[in-house]
Amino acid sequence: MQKQALLYTGKAKSVYETTDPDHLVLVFRDDTSAFDGKRIEQLAKKGHVNNRFNAFIMQKLADAGIPTHFEKLLTPDEVLVKRLNMIPVECVVRNYAAGSLCRRVGVEEGRPLTPPTFELFYKDDALGDPMVNESLAITLGWATAEQLAEMKALTYKVNDVLKVLFDQGGMLLVDFKLEFGLFHGQIVLGDEFSPDGCRLWDKETKKKLDKDRFRQGLGGVIEAYEEVSHRIGVDLSGI
Ligand code: C5P
Repeated sequence: MQKQALLYTGKAKSVYETTDPDHLVLVFRDDTSAFDGKRIEQLAKKGHVNNRFNAFIMQKLADAGIPTHFEKLLTPDEVLVKRLNMIPVECVVRNYAAGSLCRRVGVEEGRPLTPPTFELFYKDDALGDPMVNESLAITLGWATAEQLAEMKALTYKVNDVLKVLFDQGGMLLVDFKLEFGLFHGQIVLGDEFSPDGCRLWDKETKKKLDKDRFRQGLGGVIEAYEEVSHRIGVDLSGI
């Protein structure tokens, strides 16, 4: 399968068509963005680290019976994936309060959320990815009620699998964001799972080991991504 024309350039990944209409190549770049793309910096090695990290997680999720778009790693920064028709919403599960939830409702950071919450956001940088609900997503034709129910159930299932994985590495999975799409009518997990799209804290010290280090100017961003990778057994050799 050959990489063909550039289809789309996202904030951290570029998407290429292939000779097969059912597959795409994603290229993980070093670009790191925050605040809806208003701040962008290059972080050396991030593309390679996130490509390996994402492949490891997608494999774990597939092993747990979650349908994903991941097919195989191609090169240090490229992965072959199924071509999905993306649903323009972000699914967020939160186990502890952080980020926009704290700003929105004034709860203190780190408060355990039992049961974990599920939120939907509309993917639109110009609008700042506003929070929406299932009713609006159905009315505006982004997805059907059945599709949304499946996305929600799968997001909670991902939470169950990854909470345990990160716990074994001495970390709390605070929250994370997933994106889904349709592959021949089936809901499939797309995009990526990396420290760019989740919050991970050391269980004991509560040290932040995710993209909040970039957002909050804490430094040591890639070092934290590498530490998380080592703790859960992602092979970063050669990077
Ligand atoms: O900013 P907020 O607290 O709503 O983010 C919740 C989770 O979703 C965080 O883990 C964050 O990294 C992720 N997220 C993301 N992409 C966005 C918005 C949030 O990966 N556009």
